Amino acid sequence: MFPHRSAFLAPLAALLGACGGTAPPPPTQTAAQEPAPTPLMKADAEWKTALTPEQYFVLRQKGTERAGTGKYDKHLEPGTYVCAGCGHELFVSDSKFDAGCGWPSFSSPATPAGVKENPDASHGMVRTEVTCAKCGGHLGHVFDDGPAPTGLRYCINSAALGFKPKSSK
Ligand SMILES: [Zn+2]
Repeated sequence: MFPHRSAFLAPLAALLGACGGTAPPPPTQTAAQEPAPTPLMKADAEWKTALTPEQYFVLRQKGTERAGTGKYDKHLEPGTYVCAGCGHELFVSDSKFDAGCGWPSFSSPATPAGVKENPDASHGMVRTEVTCAKCGGHLGHVFDDGPAPTGLRYCINSAALGFKPKSSK
């Protein structure tokens, strides 16, 4: 006979019992859980050649363009705003609003995984920096004085953005 048979089957039975005999629940998949994009790494010298001086200043040196000078500040066309560094989709025009602050403002990112938010204590202020989740480029800051429903204001430099009009998609 097989003296070890029951010893072998016991753990298996315990395993099956743990499942309760039903199929495991399907993985929860919502738009909000979109995986973070694969990081794009480039050497500083590469960024310097690939970007305009203003894009480089904002994206790679965490600079801020002067208020009211950015090309997307009063820009109202429907479409998608992408990262000027890597083309990653960051914001859609539906969430854009005029905060009157001189920079393009959005109430939410295109996808939560599309941008990263990091604490920033520079310039004597405690702020939350927003960066591109793909290339790590500095985009701007997010403040909690935005409109409903999010109450957030993503204050973004035009120089960090590119734009794809809706019709061309
Ligand atoms: Zn990027």
